[in-house]
Amino acid sequence: MASFEGGPRGWSNTKSQALQERAAEVMPGSQTNFRGGLLNTPLFFTHARGARLWDVDGNEYIDLINAGGPGILGHSHPEYIEALKRQLDTMYSLGSGICQTEMDIELSEKIVRHVPCAERVRFCVTGSEAVHLAIRLARAHTKRPYFIRFQSHYHGWFDSVLGGVADASPADRPLPLESERDFFHTEGRAPDAFKYSFLLPWNDIDVLEATLEKYGHEVAMIHMEPILVNGGGCPPRPGYLERVRELCDEHGIVLSFDEVITGFRVGLGGAQAALGVTPDLATLGKALAGGLPMAAVAGKKEILDQLRVGKVAGAGTFNGYPLGVAASLATLKILEKDDGAVYRRIDLMQARLKEGLLEICERRGIPALVQGPRGVFFLLFTDKPVIYSFKELMQVDLPRQLKFYSLMPEEGTILMYGGRWYVSAALTEADVDRALESADRTLARL
Ligand code: PMP
Repeated sequence: MASFEGGPRGWSNTKSQALQERAAEVMPGSQTNFRGGLLNTPLFFTHARGARLWDVDGNEYIDLINAGGPGILGHSHPEYIEALKRQLDTMYSLGSGICQTEMDIELSEKIVRHVPCAERVRFCVTGSEAVHLAIRLARAHTKRPYFIRFQSHYHGWFDSVLGGVADASPADRPLPLESERDFFHTEGRAPDAFKYSFLLPWNDIDVLEATLEKYGHEVAMIHMEPILVNGGGCPPRPGYLERVRELCDEHGIVLSFDEVITGFRVGLGGAQAALGVTPDLATLGKALAGGLPMAAVAGKKEILDQLRVGKVAGAGTFNGYPLGVAASLATLKILEKDDGAVYRRIDLMQARLKEGLLEICERRGIPALVQGPRGVFFLLFTDKPVIYSFKELMQVDLPRQLKFYSLMPEEGTILMYGGRWYVSAALTEADVDRALESADRTLARL
């Protein structure tokens, strides 16, 4: 691969900047997620095909955001688009729970067949809602108030799961602390939002054991990303998940894996199938519908079957809307094809990206680590061979990390915030090589 030096070649975003100013007149932060300002560069897009995106200034980009995870097939997969069009022509919106289609059953059957913990499935629309429902189900099942979550895991934006800082030496229960320095800090949270969850360091079995020793009988659920994608693509330490499973069984706690990212991206059975540890519940979303909003809670019969009159409520006008269900069915059918050909394609392209990035960094004398499961990875500027925790993640070269990520669009490739790469099956060898050239030119500018 050729090596490039120097700055952007004719790249400009004048039209996007004008739109940013127009948006600021009517939209807080000029956009619609979190607080804005995540990308230094305002960008407004016009269309997408395969693994490429185009903006209003006519710039072409390699897409390694893929809608923030859902786009496992890339844009414009012909079978997927065909299925959506067919559904639009037939019936796309119905009335959740009262008016339903046979597709709901077919999709549930597929999830039950593929995802090890799934005996029952309940649909919702977003990952945040799925997590909300999982917590409610676990509390109802155990009749206990607390749940445990972990530092730097992300479970949506609802009050009780968003951010907070772990208390390093709590006098009593390890409740999350509010801090304005927390990336996810928010004003306006319910005053008692953090009162019923413990926030612990992940991948540290001693801390979990000690906590459960004291408070296990009060804990309804342990909820975690089984592979910590939102905190640097960290794998679980060998034996960690197995021991968490044992502890949940010993203490009668519901184990819930947040597979909103890993479900259907790591494989049809999610991280739980890949890692061989089966939780009691799993929250699913993103790649499930290949780009449309769809989410689900899947899990044990006795926990999900609480969703009935007089017991647990799980509502939503759009739950199981036919267009989303059809999109999910089409996605899963494509993922099932040819014994997982899509996943083999993703593996190939991911390996090519990884090798290329490591080669570039080595040539430039920059210590680098590429880590993450199938379909999503991080390029981290560190000399560590693996990163297991939030603490270790904070020791990578963060200024370089942020600068790299925010300059990449100027060089023709779009990544997720912080330098997360979502791989789609639409990537070609040429796309990968262009993304590598972007990375090379960006690193030359740092
Ligand atoms: N869980 C995980 C692991 C996630 O990554 C996300 C979204 N990034 C969510 C839950 C929330 O999903 P949504 O944005 O669809 O509400």
